[in-house]
This record gives sequence, C-alpha cells and structure tokens, in this order.
Amino acid sequence: MQSKDSSKSNFNIPKIKFTQLFINGEFVDSVSGKMFETIDPRNEEVIASVAEGDKDDVDLAVKAAREAFDNGPWPRLSPKERRRIMLKFADLILEHVEEIAALDAMDAGKLFSVVKTGDIPNVADVLCYYAGAADKIHGTTLKMSRELQGYTLLEPIGVVGLIIPWNFPSPLLMHKVAPALAAGCTVVVKPAEQTPLSALYYAYLAKQAGIPDGVVNVVTGFGPTAGAALSSHMDVDKIGFTGSTEVGRLIMHAAATSNLKPVSLELGGKSPFIVFDDVDVDKVAPLAFVGAVYNKGEICVAGSRLFIQEGIYDKFVKKLVEMAKTWVVGDPFDPNTRQGPQIDKIQFEKVLSYIEHGKKEGATLLTGGNSLDRKGYFIEPTIFVDVTDEMTIAKEEIFGPVLSVMKFKTVEEVIKRANCTKYGLAAGVMTNDLNIANTVSRSIRAGVIWINCYFAFDPDCPFGGYKCSGFERDLGMEGLHKYLQVKSVVTPIYNSPW
Ligand code: NAD
Repeated sequence: MQSKDSSKSNFNIPKIKFTQLFINGEFVDSVSGKMFETIDPRNEEVIASVAEGDKDDVDLAVKAAREAFDNGPWPRLSPKERRRIMLKFADLILEHVEEIAALDAMDAGKLFSVVKTGDIPNVADVLCYYAGAADKIHGTTLKMSRELQGYTLLEPIGVVGLIIPWNFPSPLLMHKVAPALAAGCTVVVKPAEQTPLSALYYAYLAKQAGIPDGVVNVVTGFGPTAGAALSSHMDVDKIGFTGSTEVGRLIMHAAATSNLKPVSLELGGKSPFIVFDDVDVDKVAPLAFVGAVYNKGEICVAGSRLFIQEGIYDKFVKKLVEMAKTWVVGDPFDPNTRQGPQIDKIQFEKVLSYIEHGKKEGATLLTGGNSLDRKGYFIEPTIFVDVTDEMTIAKEEIFGPVLSVMKFKTVEEVIKRANCTKYGLAAGVMTNDLNIANTVSRSIRAGVIWINCYFAFDPDCPFGGYKCSGFERDLGMEGLHKYLQVKSVVTPIYNSPW
C-alpha cells in the first residue's frame, strides 16, 4: 500500500452554491434556522454549513409534494412531455458533470475520476432509461369470466419519500427519483447527512429542466429527525429507502404505525465472492481484490467474504497481497489514487474496531490493518486469512476495505457456507465450468449473481436483496413498478344489469 499527500492534488474545488432546503421550487432556510456542517473526510475540515431540516420542514415539503401531485401538472402531463423534461434533466446533469462529481468526491471521499466517469454518467443513463419508459406504462386487458370486461390501469402511487445513504450519493438518489418521476409521482428526498450537497444541486437542475415546483423537494438533515418525520408522515404514500438493515427496520415500523404506507428497502450485505480452481489467477485475483475494496469497501455489494478453492489458494492469496501493497491510498482528487478516506470518524473507528475483532478472534492479518498517519479517515486495504465462518469479520458488514479470505474444497461445501449469512444481496462466481456456474448461481440466495464479473450494473438490470438485505428492486422495470398502483376497472359487456 502506498500513501499520497493531498497537497499533490491540483484540482480546482468548486464553490458550494446550494446549502438551503429545496421546497416547492425554492431554496429556503429551515424553519428552525438550524444548520449543520458537512465535513471533508480527507482533512476533517468543514466544507459547508447546510440547512438542518426536521419535522416542520418535512411537513412543508410533503405539503408541496401533495399539492403538486393532487392538483399540479406533473402527473397529468402527457408521458411524452414528462420524457422530454427528464431527458433535458439528464443533459443538464452531464453539462455539470465536473462540478457534481467534485461535490460527491469532497463530501464522501470518493475518487473524483470515478465519480466523473462512472457515477454521474450512470445518473444520466438511469434518467434516460426511465424517461424512455414514461410512455410505456400500461396495464393489461383482463380475461374475465361471465359477461364482464376488465382492464388494469397503472397509476402513480402519489407522494414518495426517498431516504438515501452516503456511499453513492448520486446514483442511489437517481435510482429512485428517476422511476418515481417517470411514474408521475412527486418526491421528497432526504439525502444522508454526510453527503447533502449533490442532492441540492440536482434539485436546482430539475427546476432548470422544467420540472414543475413541488415535484422534487429536498430536505437535508438527520435520520432520527428529518428521516423519521418522513417515514412516519401520514400524507406520504410510499417510502423508498436505501441504507442499513438496522434503520430499515425503523422505517418499516414507522410505516406500519402511521398510514401503513408501502416501503421498499435496499439494505446491507456480506456478499460471497467464490473462486474455483479452473480460473486464471492473474485475471481473477485483481477482480476479487477490487470487489472488496472498491469505493474503500463502502459498497453494499462488497465481495467481503472471499472463498478460494484449495488448488489455487496459495497462488491467489499471494497475488491479492501484491495488489494490496501497490494500492495507492490518498487524496481522491489525485488521479493516481485508488482509494480515498472512509466517510467519517464513526465509520473510520468502526472499521478499525472490526480489524481488532479479526485479530482477537484468531484470523491472520496478512497485510494492512492500520490507519494512515495523517489527517483524514484513511485506512490501509486489509486482508485476513484463516477466517472461519463464525468470526465477526465473516458475519458482519464492515463497510470498509477489509477482506476475509477462506479456503474451500467442494461445490456443495461452498454453497452452504456462502448462504450461511443473514444477508442476501449479491454474489460472485468465478469459473469456466458452466455446470458449476449454473449450479452455484441457482443455489445462492441473493438478489444478483455475477458470473465471471463483478459490480456489473446496468439501468435495465433489477437490483435488490433477499433476506435481511431488503425487498423490492431498484432499476429495471421492477424499479418503476413500485411507484405505480394497479387499478382494476370492470364493466358489463352488454348494457344489462349484471
Ligand atoms: P443508514 O441506515 O445509517 O442511513 C441511511 C439513511 O437513513 C440516511 O439518510 C439517514 O439519515 C437515514 N436515517 C437514519 N436513521 C433514520 C431513522 N430513524 N428514520 C429514517 N431515516 C433514518 O445507512 P448509511 O450508513 O448511510 O449507509 C450504509 C448502509 O447502507 C450499509 O448498510 C449499506 O450496505 C447500505 N446500502 C445498501 C445499498 C443497497 O442497494 N442495498 C446501497 C448502498 C448502501
């Protein structure tokens, strides 16, 4: 592992333009006038003070979204017009890609080049995908018995509350906002308190694109106040949530004890990455390493449990360690950097405490394990071997650059061990044997299985979890349908009393 000094970065950090709440088409202060600081994880310095919304502000935002839904133009626009505006929104995002990428890189310690060439283009792609779906939302003709005819209408579900985490502030916001807009819904977005800046920028661009006032509202603030007010609100028709399993339970409880609104949950993971003896080690080991430490391990689908078949185990582990030793940790604006800082002090300390658990419980630390001796929340890529399925580092989601390596012998054994988790978000299967690939992919209880690839996302590919990783799907047509209601319309075929 190499470390780099942040002074080497020569990127021109943009001025922060938007720090107020966005309600009913206007940037406004919070009712309480309170602000909170968003911190740069590279140097622990304040980037900006942002309006701290809570219950009163959520009430105002929901009122605006309700009015826009009940009486405003958006749900009533022709789908063609909705599509045109959403495509304009996507174009504007691409025009401002550098600035938005810099906001996420600063707020979340993400690699600027990756956000610029990956995250933000993905946001625009997802908007275009759902813009294209806006005029293809249709129900079905029903085959009814007796002398009845019936059909279904798909109608927008209404006012949607969207609660977003900090690890992919832009894509995870747009994976929910875009389908909700295409469906004709209005939204109140609560971004994570660690990463409020890009969400406010999107609100500004939504207005520039012609999205009517009240359709997109953004309330920045904290989870237990603003987030809780949104999920328990009586006038919110649905909650879309991405975040931890623990908070997912709170969201479901709030929905159940308020107006019984439906919720969709995209939650945590502890994904197995399974490598069989027949692979090319030089190709697959780098993929396995990146599968665990990409985005500093702050990714719900991190392949943090690496199962390697015994025949290639030693060679594979050697290659992993070589990767870790040359991995550059440092300033995310430096193009040579491969890994930036963890999001904040809480997460930084949590990851280090998991590393201590690993050592205490008897796993062998092969490389890494330390924070960098400098300001900011930097942690070395860390590899443990001799990990057993019962150890804390094999069971709990660490959300940091920590890889637990395990050896296996047979297909049956690895299927059993891979499924031995409360989570079920993703899995990787690396083999050239079609029978093994098919058997394992059908046996793992997870929402996405990547065969001979990893992190292969696409707007058309539904994404979500089994078990404690949540339910419902983002992306694909499944990601649209959760913002729609099915209405059945039935009438007698002949004008006779039925
Ligand atoms: P988190 O659950 O702490 O926070 C997520 C959001 O929920 C934030 O906006 C937060 O303010 C809000 N929140 C917190 N308490 C709340 C409450 N009581 N009521 C309502 N809202 C509340 O998660 P995080 O730390 O931001 O993100 C990391 C977690 O997200 C990890 O577990 C990760 O696996 C998961 N995640 C899942 C996916 C997925 O698609 N499955 C994607 C990214 C992240």
